[in-house]
Amino acid sequence: MDSYIKQWHDLILNCNFDNTYKMVWSKALVELSLDINNDSDKEIIVFDFNEIAKLCLKYYWNQTIYFDLVQSPNLKKPPEIITSTKKLVKEFFSKKGSLQPVRFEKVDFTSLALENQYETTVENIARTLRQDVCWRFKKLKGNIYEIYDLDTKEERVSFHKDNVLKLKIYSDFLFTVINYRWTQMLEGFNYSPRISRKVRAIDEDNIKRGSLGKFHKYLDLMFEDGKRKCFYCGDVIQDAHLSVDHVIPWSYMFSDDLWNLVYCHKGENSKKSNRIPVEEDILQLENRNMKLLERMENKSREYNQLQIAVKKDYVRQFWTSFKG
Ligand SMILES: [Zn+2]
Repeated sequence: MDSYIKQWHDLILNCNFDNTYKMVWSKALVELSLDINNDSDKEIIVFDFNEIAKLCLKYYWNQTIYFDLVQSPNLKKPPEIITSTKKLVKEFFSKKGSLQPVRFEKVDFTSLALENQYETTVENIARTLRQDVCWRFKKLKGNIYEIYDLDTKEERVSFHKDNVLKLKIYSDFLFTVINYRWTQMLEGFNYSPRISRKVRAIDEDNIKRGSLGKFHKYLDLMFEDGKRKCFYCGDVIQDAHLSVDHVIPWSYMFSDDLWNLVYCHKGENSKKSNRIPVEEDILQLENRNMKLLERMENKSREYNQLQIAVKKDYVRQFWTSFKG
């Protein structure tokens, strides 16, 4: 392996688990290298902490808004960058008047009149990068790896052009190593399922919340008179208000499974988004699944999946781990 890239590889794979700052820092630098042209006439390439901070915000925004993953082992004192990212997400939700997640790349902070809040968040992140991250990333077991030069006063990091081009050439490899290490860290502080898929998904722009209409035909088996009732309040739901809800939040499961899906009134599920279901709901869902299994034909794929879920008691297992 190229010796410069080997240093990056070693720093990424051996850095400690205090939080995931080093992951967003290194990932942002590799992403910025993609914009550098081979025929650039500059010998030294400089990245500004503000540009780096914007990318860090992008990674944390997407991970937080979709999956709400914990980024450090200390739950009482979350990392500052996460706190400021969450604050911005909250302001975004309140401007939109909805809890529907939107990718960072698609958010227009100016038209939402959130430009100042956005700039402040970026400045806060840049400050943390200067104080805690930029120099620490180069240090490993008492050694300093001279992979870049820092001007902390001007909040800049500079590279020899040859080195930044190496980052570009090896970017796929480095992104894979960073995501692997990031996944490993997150597994240390999160009990949520499918963490490696969640980490990868924020790069691939394929976080889809698909239509749940295909589950109607199974959920309808519970209502022989055709009157669909709300899982939470028990009232009959008019078609215009019908919605399918994940009892254990989608953000946690990152998948649509029949054993976790119920009918409810439209407003009711957006209000409870990401909240921990109460035990009463869990008991009710376990009972529903047993009854639903009896009513399904035992040939379909959904039948087999529901059977496994009932046998292994996924509802309670995932609920327990979601509660933490
Ligand atoms: Zn209801």
